Amino acid sequence: MKAAIFDGQDISIKEIPNPELKDSQVLIRVKASGVCGTDLAIVRGHLLTPTPLILGHEFAGEIVEVGKKVNESWLGKRVTSEINSNIDFECYYCQREIFTQCITRKALGIDINGSFAEYIAVESYLLHEIPNNISYKEATFIEPLAAAFQTFETMPLGSDDKTIAIFGLGKLGLLLCQVAIINGLEVIGIDHSDRKLNLAKNFGAKHLIKNNEDESVIGRIKKITGNLGANIVVDTTGNPNALKEIVSSCRSRGKIHIKSTHGLDTPIDLTDIVVREITIFSSRCGPFSKAINGLGSGLINVKDLISQEFKLENIADAFNSYKKNSDNIKTIILI
Ligand SMILES: [Zn+2]
Repeated sequence: MKAAIFDGQDISIKEIPNPELKDSQVLIRVKASGVCGTDLAIVRGHLLTPTPLILGHEFAGEIVEVGKKVNESWLGKRVTSEINSNIDFECYYCQREIFTQCITRKALGIDINGSFAEYIAVESYLLHEIPNNISYKEATFIEPLAAAFQTFETMPLGSDDKTIAIFGLGKLGLLLCQVAIINGLEVIGIDHSDRKLNLAKNFGAKHLIKNNEDESVIGRIKKITGNLGANIVVDTTGNPNALKEIVSSCRSRGKIHIKSTHGLDTPIDLTDIVVREITIFSSRCGPFSKAINGLGSGLINVKDLISQEFKLENIADAFNSYKKNSDNIKTIILI
């Protein structure tokens, strides 16, 4: 099969044998696979992985083969997959059904081979069938949309939680914007891209702040929130330099929710957090069923988030395009 192999420096297309199918797995013919911020972080050297490795974990495709222990009814199904594989189903976390923190877990496209390839072998317990009204391209948003829903699974909302400031209106920020509005929150969206700010406005964000204007982001947020700061401030930027503003934009006893990874040395003002009794939350992954319902019912718009599409052969160009175009929201690799 054709696969995009990351060697620790570059990504190149190679012809390699199809994955070996274990009895508990299915073989998926990948149809579409999204480029995630995590993929970019790996290629930029901010997140270390074993190499050589096939990246990619936001994907959808058709099951073309099932292992001996898998129900044959899966054959031919249109599916997507959760990313946390190698689950032992017996550790401390698994006993509490927190499978995403299983001690033996390995993530597709990060710890073990992922979906920038013609085929991927996946454990059947990770599968979710895609309804016919969700295209393969749209289905690549199920994993990040689940992560957006997870924000409010791990961070319960209180009666004072009325405003949420979302720093970064990329794919995750714009999904989160829509989920926050469903949860009854007033969204303040912050980004440097007019295109992204306009999309947030179309999705119903009440306040938009372009973060390269003269007036400071913190000043604008204070003005909007009666000089208090936002109740909830979410980081989806992946930019360590944004964290100072994120802390300063949060009101005392407010909540900061970190959704993106920032690399190894992240400066953050812990004293301010302690003095003002701010709580920090974080979350990743999330409930696929909620994401599939949100997409299938039309409640969540993902069509407008697709910026560009590349064939697998041109995946290196897809990664390079992020350097050139800050309006780029979501790139999909068609396979
Ligand atoms: Zn476990």
